[in-house]
Amino acid sequence: MLSSWPKQWQSSFTNVDDLLKYLELSRLDLPILTDFTQFPFKVPRPFVDRMKKGDPNDPLLLQVLPITAELLENPGFSKNPLQEDTVNPVSGLLHKYSSRVLLTLSGSCAINCRYCFRRHFPYEDNNPGTKGWESIFDYLREHSEVNEVILSGGDPLSTNDAVLKRFIQRLERLESVQYLRFHTRFPIVIPDRVTEDLLLMLDDTRFRVSMVLHTNHVNEWDESLRAPMRALHDANVTLLNQSVLLGGINNSVSALSDLSYRLYDLGVLPYYLHLLDKVAGASHFDVSADEAVILMRGLIERLPGYLVPRLVREVPGCGSKVPIDLFCARIMTK
Ligand SMILES: *Cc1c(COP(=O)(O)O)cnc(C)c1O
Ligand code: SF4
Repeated sequence: MLSSWPKQWQSSFTNVDDLLKYLELSRLDLPILTDFTQFPFKVPRPFVDRMKKGDPNDPLLLQVLPITAELLENPGFSKNPLQEDTVNPVSGLLHKYSSRVLLTLSGSCAINCRYCFRRHFPYEDNNPGTKGWESIFDYLREHSEVNEVILSGGDPLSTNDAVLKRFIQRLERLESVQYLRFHTRFPIVIPDRVTEDLLLMLDDTRFRVSMVLHTNHVNEWDESLRAPMRALHDANVTLLNQSVLLGGINNSVSALSDLSYRLYDLGVLPYYLHLLDKVAGASHFDVSADEAVILMRGLIERLPGYLVPRLVREVPGCGSKVPIDLFCARIMTK
């Protein structure tokens, strides 16, 4: 019997040398960063077990390992690329797109991804706690144009089931809201997070529920994910995936099409492929818009339309994510 998900989460690797040793690698194989206190290292064991031992270029390892390239100063990259503080009317609530709000119920994540645009985000200041819920519900009552609530983060599934259930039950009293969405990496990183209680809660709610999983590479989807995806599907949850286009990890037609087919095999459809948000410390992952467009053209040739993710980018102040035109004009770089 495996330990519960909180235990597996607590016993994540938090020391780079421990992980390297486990993977039969040494500091000589990789340019490890020594000081990364402001964005700590954290990788749960089930995710590590999908990495290939002895491979310093493993696509899962590269997503989590702090390397010296994070120190590169790059003029286009800043600490706050999305300027979300301007659309943050209530603590824990972002209202950028008219019909939907994004809530950050929890600042914690299952895993710390080095490319994350929230690596400098003031989580602590923007974590409403259960006390802050009232202001969120007040805001939603005053904004009946909002029909979908998106639980994001951090990772919303780092909240325990009892708290989550109380939150959903309160939310259900708001008649204007009909759709509930989770953006999460938890079920991927620790598949045991898909508990019986979670499944019952999602099956019972009056909301139409979707879950957007965040994964970037086919190797994240090993067989341990088949049962939890099936169970979520049986609980009437629509399963989608979004990826970030990451240099050295998934920037090839074959990597992206392998991911799409694997998602489909496990009952998940590709949703978005994001260009990297230009956050300081992640510039080594960047893939240009021109390269992205060429990759997408290759994907369209290779895949049925329903397995092609939409290529988008975030533009501060825009009323939606911005789709990138694949066939018209010259691509707008930068
Ligand atoms: C991405 C995002 C959404 C959801 O956008 P969709 O296009 O519906 O997936 C909502 N709010 C914020 C702040 C977002 O970043
Ligand atoms: S918000 Fe998402 S990408 Fe960022 S560290 Fe958490 S799980 Fe990773």
